[in-house]
Amino acid sequence: MSASTKITMATAWLDGCSGCHMSFLDLDERLITLAEKVDIVYSPIVDTKELPEGVDVGILEGAVSNEEDLEKAKLFRSRCKYLISLGDCAVTGNVPTMRNTFDLDEVYDRAFVENVQCQPQRPTEEVPPLLETVRPIHHVVPVDLVVQGCPPSADTIWYVLTELMAGRTPCPTEVTRFGA
Ligand code: SF4
Repeated sequence: MSASTKITMATAWLDGCSGCHMSFLDLDERLITLAEKVDIVYSPIVDTKELPEGVDVGILEGAVSNEEDLEKAKLFRSRCKYLISLGDCAVTGNVPTMRNTFDLDEVYDRAFVENVQCQPQRPTEEVPPLLETVRPIHHVVPVDLVVQGCPPSADTIWYVLTELMAGRTPCPTEVTRFGA
């Protein structure tokens, strides 16, 4: 990646709490510096509805829990030159994998029948079908970098992005760890 070229970036959250994106927003005034060097072309924090082709850096938060997550992970992999798995849910599955010890029917019943007082029923539309098990992103598509933390701090995200913008490969384990 050239240090002198303005890079394009895309982000998405899959099965995550959005905390990793909140950590990104915690860059605060550094977002202004970032905006001088990076175009965010697709993200929950911008209005673009379609992920373009040939994005320089893709960042995915969250685990892969349902068919929509799986499709989005594949789309990011196919359209992003460099894919970052951001946060413990993306890197290990973390909290979302707690359902993996249960049968899928039990999970559906717990969420949509047992804990619902008004019209308990399984959704037949709008809610993407769950996969049998929740998986980290690198189990479904290759990733170029994993960034641990729940969430990774703003300083960690800044380190990763500035290293990339400088044309270097970041080493996130120097600045973060699982559960940090
Ligand atoms: S890693 Fe932590 S902060 Fe990030 S999506 Fe998962 S639970 Fe939320």
